[in-house]
Amino acid sequence: MRSFFGGIHPYDGKALSRNSAIEELAAPKQVVIPLSMHIGAPAKPGVSAGDSVCVGSVIGEAATGVAGISAPVHSSVSGTVAAVEERLHPNGRRIVSVVIDNDFNDTLDAEVVPQTIDEHDYSTDIIRILYKAGVVGMGGATFPAHYKLASGLNRADTLIINGAECEPYITSDHRVLLEDADAVLRGIRHLRRALNLDKAILAVEANKADAIALLKTKLEGTSDIEIRVLKTRYPQGGEKQLIQAVTGRQVPSGKLPADVNCVVFNVYTAWSLNQAIETGLPVISRVVTVSGPGVAYPKNLRVKIGTPVREVLDAAGGLKADARKVLLGGPMMGNAIYDLDVPVIKGTNSIVALAPEQIHHSADTNSVCIRCGRCIGVCPMRLQPVYLYAYERKNKLDELKKLHIADCMECGSCAYICPGRLHLVQAIRSGKAKINNR
Ligand code: SF4
Ligand code: SF4
Repeated sequence: MRSFFGGIHPYDGKALSRNSAIEELAAPKQVVIPLSMHIGAPAKPGVSAGDSVCVGSVIGEAATGVAGISAPVHSSVSGTVAAVEERLHPNGRRIVSVVIDNDFNDTLDAEVVPQTIDEHDYSTDIIRILYKAGVVGMGGATFPAHYKLASGLNRADTLIINGAECEPYITSDHRVLLEDADAVLRGIRHLRRALNLDKAILAVEANKADAIALLKTKLEGTSDIEIRVLKTRYPQGGEKQLIQAVTGRQVPSGKLPADVNCVVFNVYTAWSLNQAIETGLPVISRVVTVSGPGVAYPKNLRVKIGTPVREVLDAAGGLKADARKVLLGGPMMGNAIYDLDVPVIKGTNSIVALAPEQIHHSADTNSVCIRCGRCIGVCPMRLQPVYLYAYERKNKLDELKKLHIADCMECGSCAYICPGRLHLVQAIRSGKAKINNR
């Protein structure tokens, strides 16, 4: 098993939910669907208050055509548009969103039909289907998948499917691999054929032994998908770390995976592509792990996009009395939210509630760096967090650039290991913002 430089071994908490089969959460009375759930230009409103919509109807048009970085947005329920207005987004900002009252009829849009693929123009058709279905990086990165696939055409010699799921507590991809492996494998084969490659590599961390055994059984006698077992280490699922672990190639500073002839898609992105082909359904729901010591009954749920986080937590028994912090995403890279009524969006792979013991209150005014160098040893990007911290405090922005602050992926490994409990990631974020604003 290969791995990457640096990294840490945090408590993974996955035992709380890894054996919980995916349950379907009933759609809420009202969904709030932001028009920005992806990297790139927000979608443009395609409906107005009073309009009727069906499940899968386009409610936000991609701001760009298929050649640009944007994605359409679809209704996850049938019903009536109550408003198109700014609502609180999980990122803490107010974003134009479509509010839909559910009529509970689940009427499908006429456009939701299985897709046919032209054997002679496979790549173009898969790009079209990804675009039409609004598929984005479903591991949380939310980069439009059609654009990523197009950027790898005639360049990529390696297709990697990211099944690492290295963030603590999250088990949604693990469950999808266990419960719907055939659909994931069909999605991977469509991506492989679109890229005109003989083989795809499905990379899974060693802590998912049951999924690895199942996949190996299903792939017996085939050679077009290889299961690559990776060491369990955070942040194994980072795109650049995964590429290094699988191929030994290092993506240079400021470059993209395609620059080292690789394309990486998440397991659930492959599953979503397969769904779009076989049923015509765009991304209107996703599997969400609801877990952490602050949740009464951790589980995995399939949730309609636009469902309030509060209702998802309620379906898992609600928050325990001592829950102190709710995160969308895992404890290493997730965002803390202050309002439980924000909606589940395409990139919400988990809702994690922490109890006081998991929250390190740190960096009081007496905290100091003891120059132990541990932050440098764990940084997967080979940066020097201790100096990034010191230069940010002193507003030495040129020095920050020389130390490649832009390469920091904000994985949190340095802050996790730091005995001084310094707010390293916050300082790095602040440093990046200062550079961008000067
Ligand atoms: S947060 Fe940035 S500086 Fe810290 S370990 Fe991760 S990549 Fe390195
Ligand atoms: S880990 Fe913390 S205390 Fe150690 S060198 Fe880095 S910033 Fe300083």
